[in-house]
Amino acid sequence: MQFRDLKKQYTVLKEEMDQAILDVVASSAYVMGPKIKEMELAFADYVGVKHCIACNSGTDALLLALKAWGVKPGDAVFVPSFTFFASAEVIAMQGATPVFVDVDPVTFNIDVNDLDAKIKRVIDRGVLTPKVVIAVDLFGLPADFEAVRRVADRYRLYVLEDAAQGFGGRIGSENACTFGDISTTSFFPAKPVGCYGDGGAVFTNNDEWAALIESYHIHGKGSDRYDNVRIGMNSRLDSLQAAILLVKLKAFKDFELVDVNTVANRYTEKLSGVVTTPVVPDGFYSSWAQYTIQLADKETRYALQAALKENDIPTAIYYPIPMHRQTAFCDLDLSDNQCPVSDLLADRVLSLPIHPYLTETDQDRICEVIRSFMSLSQPKK
Ligand SMILES: *Cc1c(COP(=O)(O)O)cnc(C)c1O
Repeated sequence: MQFRDLKKQYTVLKEEMDQAILDVVASSAYVMGPKIKEMELAFADYVGVKHCIACNSGTDALLLALKAWGVKPGDAVFVPSFTFFASAEVIAMQGATPVFVDVDPVTFNIDVNDLDAKIKRVIDRGVLTPKVVIAVDLFGLPADFEAVRRVADRYRLYVLEDAAQGFGGRIGSENACTFGDISTTSFFPAKPVGCYGDGGAVFTNNDEWAALIESYHIHGKGSDRYDNVRIGMNSRLDSLQAAILLVKLKAFKDFELVDVNTVANRYTEKLSGVVTTPVVPDGFYSSWAQYTIQLADKETRYALQAALKENDIPTAIYYPIPMHRQTAFCDLDLSDNQCPVSDLLADRVLSLPIHPYLTETDQDRICEVIRSFMSLSQPKK
């Protein structure tokens, strides 16, 4: 069994995919060809935002957003502690200081009360300037952006939506990748919409920031191709990946997003009362980048993981070490940067196989192993 069955997906999309790839190969337009514009328009249209700039990874997409805002040493950027390293890494890459915020124990997303408290503390200390809050749509569920926005507006911070896992999610009728002043996503193969390598995109309605990001992602280009007006990066998306993404987006819209939600709902039906299942709040829709359950403690989590492995069922732990405990950040003064919920989740979470092509037979087998493990591990009365 696969954790995320990309091979199965390829066999389903093969005919269209092979043609799309061969067309680019035959065109010889490998870098910044017409496929890039086509892909950017299709993704901007799907999301419902004015500008989409394709780039080389979800990490670069975050970095480009911070560059557009001129984030620099002395700035504080608030980021959840329970996330993938890249969300926080980009802050340090700009020379700014990450301030780690705890997450909600139910949604796994940024806790706005802790955000408010952490911003206040930075202001009280008077050393750093609060500049940006990065809210992550963890495991596919959009963060509570209405609440994030309220706090951000109070302190005049930019909101950056890290939708690397959130593409396809919604709040009401609004799509993920529209909630930030700038929003970003990743096309890493295992994300909700992935390409066949690294890729990412930046989304915004702001013309000025879009123009800056367009420039930054191609060596700080100016209007003259060989007059570079700022120091930028080489972060173009390959035309091949753009062609692949156009095929993937179509499948995602046509059936994959709905199918992965069916799989998730079925898990919840079969596992609620057995383990702690993920919760999607009213009005929210998840793209289910991960289906993450919680166990009572670390020992139970690892024992269940081993039991599943014995039955040839792959699982993953996202994430075993929160940001405020990462070695790379050990030089930061984190004495007043507590994130107890992130610590707790790091010990308790376990992500199960999930993708649109997971069969009911495989899913039943997974649930059966979990059920029998949990019934055996119940404390004896
Ligand atoms: C994957 C991921 C990224 C980075 O995306 P890459 O394309 O791998 O660079 C950033 N943030 C989150 C939350 C992610 O899951």
